[in-house]
Amino acid sequence: VSKFNELTMAPPDPILGVSEAFRADTHEMKLNLGVGAYRTEDLQPYVLDVVKKAENLMLERGENKEYLPIEGLAAFNKATAELLFGAESVVLQQQRVATVQGLSGTGSLRLAAVLIERYFPGAKVLISAPTWGNHKNIFNDAGVPWSEYRYYDPKTVGLDFDGMISDIKAAPAGSFVLLHGCAHNPTGIDPTPEQWEVIADVIQEKNHIPFFDVAYQGFASGSLDEDASSVRLFADRGMELLVAQSYSKNLGLYSERIGAINVVCSSSEVAQRVKSQLKRIARPMYSNPPIHGARIVANVVGSPDLFNEWKEEMAVMAGRIKSVRKKLYDSITEKEKTSKDWSFILKQIGMFSFTGLNKAQSENMTSKWHVYMTKDGRISLAGLSAAKCDYLADAIIDSYH
Ligand code: PLP
Repeated sequence: VSKFNELTMAPPDPILGVSEAFRADTHEMKLNLGVGAYRTEDLQPYVLDVVKKAENLMLERGENKEYLPIEGLAAFNKATAELLFGAESVVLQQQRVATVQGLSGTGSLRLAAVLIERYFPGAKVLISAPTWGNHKNIFNDAGVPWSEYRYYDPKTVGLDFDGMISDIKAAPAGSFVLLHGCAHNPTGIDPTPEQWEVIADVIQEKNHIPFFDVAYQGFASGSLDEDASSVRLFADRGMELLVAQSYSKNLGLYSERIGAINVVCSSSEVAQRVKSQLKRIARPMYSNPPIHGARIVANVVGSPDLFNEWKEEMAVMAGRIKSVRKKLYDSITEKEKTSKDWSFILKQIGMFSFTGLNKAQSENMTSKWHVYMTKDGRISLAGLSAAKCDYLADAIIDSYH
């Protein structure tokens, strides 16, 4: 008998498990709309040209594989903070930001979660209902208590703004409020600029600490600056805040695990102390981060030519997603003769569309139509081609009825 006999079988991951089921399906119309990874019109993975060029630069320069410092590659940390806050931002000029390279978005969120657990004992993190499934795992495993604030309104397939505001107001003062910087996952529903102002007001009134998760900068609108405007609005108010960043989507560096945690502090002296503690958390966890993705980002941002090319490629990716979004909407409204309002599809932003399909309906999408998606009704439009919009429209309409 095994010494591991007490261990039961863990359930498959709700997102990554979808890809496993997809691979096992042999139907020719099958579609993988589960995981949020960009695909070309031929539904193939895509390596950006700028990434290949940045990798070539590395080879040409004969760069070595020495350990990075615990906080990561200096050129990356500088570039990532500047992309986020803007190179001319006051918080950077005043050196008030503690930036530490992390293992992509997930690892950066985890560093912050441990920081919260260690130095804000008992403080709660407020997360949107619904949110990206891994958020709960991350805070649970770090031992950080969390609760949900209202976000999605099933009646309108839109934002429950009043619910959101009253839940943030009702939370104990000094809570952390997790916000998706842009392209909310899974709903694709973002607050308007005016609503962001009100959210910032309430957070300030309640002495809460905003904690942004920015996994889609530049990928949502096609513009790096526009997609960072929520974070900048808060930073410009002089608030202290946390921001986790990921380069999985906007540079297509999924498996390189490159991202960062940024903590905006009230002074540069505080930022130095915070940074030292983040390093102290990282050291026994993974010692120091991987260099490859960090160099790619630093090389792309550090060369004006590559930087411009990146922006162009990002606009193409964001544009392809917008165009299948529109095509899907057109297909559905052409076929569906009831008065149901499908305009929410067009209003949503980013990689995902929240269809409003419930669990049983989502299951019908998979069992009958070979469309693989998460059971919350989310579809990744990045996995959809123009050629398959019609088929997907049939599947959605059938599953609704
Ligand atoms: N946060 C959100 C909202 C996401 O959607 C994702 C990826 O799907 C991540 C964070 C982190 O992804 P990664 O760890 O690959 O950077």
